[in-house]
Amino acid sequence: MNDEIKKLIQHDMSDDCLVCRTQDIVAMALMPAAAAWEMANELPRFSLALQGAAGLLGAMLEEGVDRADIDAAISDLLDDIEAAIAEDRVMGGPPQGSA
Ligand SMILES: [Zn+2]
Repeated sequence: MNDEIKKLIQHDMSDDCLVCRTQDIVAMALMPAAAAWEMANELPRFSLALQGAAGLLGAMLEEGVDRADIDAAISDLLDDIEAAIAEDRVMGGPPQGSA
């Protein structure tokens, strides 16, 4: 994975860690917005989330970022998110999206 992409997915343990800041923005702004657009347009749940993510990553491809680097970065990020979800469940937090 190239160094520039690596920097984008690694916590730097500072108060203004790039990873934590961007994940906060996604959770606070992008996820609720995508869910609202799906409902307003009668689209299946997660359809816009998935297409939106792919579209944003497609912009990276267009800029010449290697697809293998993007695949590897996403795989690492999903591993981290999966671990965080498992940790939350152990702590007794409710799983997101459950009714
Ligand atoms: Zn962080």
